Amino acid sequence: MHPSSKTWSPRPAAGPRVLFRSSAAALPCLAALLGLTSASLGCAASTHAAVTSSLGTPSSSEAMEAVIDRPGPISLEVVNSTDWAVPRSGVINLDSAGAKAAGLKDGDEPIAVFAYVLRHPTRGVYLVDSGVTDRLVRDPKGAGVGMLVRWQLHPEKMKVRETADDLVARLGAPLAGVLLTHLHLDHVSGMPAIPRGTPLYAGPGETTDRSVWNWFTQSTIDAFLAGSAPVQTWQYRADPSGRTAGVIDVFGDGSLWAILAPGHTPGSTAYLVRTPTGPVLLTGDASHTRWGWEHDVEPGSFSGDRPRSVASLASLRALTARHPAMTVRLGHQP
Ligand SMILES: [Zn+2]
Repeated sequence: MHPSSKTWSPRPAAGPRVLFRSSAAALPCLAALLGLTSASLGCAASTHAAVTSSLGTPSSSEAMEAVIDRPGPISLEVVNSTDWAVPRSGVINLDSAGAKAAGLKDGDEPIAVFAYVLRHPTRGVYLVDSGVTDRLVRDPKGAGVGMLVRWQLHPEKMKVRETADDLVARLGAPLAGVLLTHLHLDHVSGMPAIPRGTPLYAGPGETTDRSVWNWFTQSTIDAFLAGSAPVQTWQYRADPSGRTAGVIDVFGDGSLWAILAPGHTPGSTAYLVRTPTGPVLLTGDASHTRWGWEHDVEPGSFSGDRPRSVASLASLRALTARHPAMTVRLGHQP
């Protein structure tokens, strides 16, 4: 959700781009900064360990699209962890022609923070993203959220539906893994409730991407991941058709696909789930909103790379157009 700009911007720190950034991270980053050239401005999104994924096989959109319309074995449960509201300019590019034509103005956009439960008959129970913990809402400071991030968090705008704590308690089976769409706060905010040692997976560059904005968020992301297993990084390869930025056959049986959709963050990943009733695309924050998806308008200031966001949104929309039976679940709206 939060911004991940790769380049310095003179935008004042009070703007929406500081959402979810933590002042406590400033000190180590500043120290690092003093020893760096201008080409290395900024610091990593997280200092949490990242390793090559032991799961998943690089594949192609052609192979994926050959099977995705067949009923699949994975049951999918959508969990709304909390209702919330964020600035519309963060989740929709209000400078786009489409938003201007529609007369969209900035203001609170109602959203939700989702987690998804995937139950595979032989591979076990996985989550996609993690929801929010009870503590994040009650005690953001105690949960490790830095000062400036707390200022932008507005927990009073959260209406909790099911915390990550309650979700994990009712799953009834050990978690085989957590598949992250990306490493922004509102996607890793449930991680403190996940049993230690549970394997984590995310796209490339999610911890290592460098930005000056990470000065404000790094400590918060680190706090949520503290004690967790290293982030296993999907090993994407170029999609031969060029239709996507890369595709992974997660279990090797064609039931679950990771699709690289960079722009919001460098490793942003969508997941395509084959369920008994048809394919479901979890877009992650390639598109936060229903309006943005339906009007082909990419996310706004929360995305780090607007041109790549435009390309990834177009790629996912084209995928769904080729497979009209597909259900689309957007990053933060039904
Ligand atoms: Zn988000």
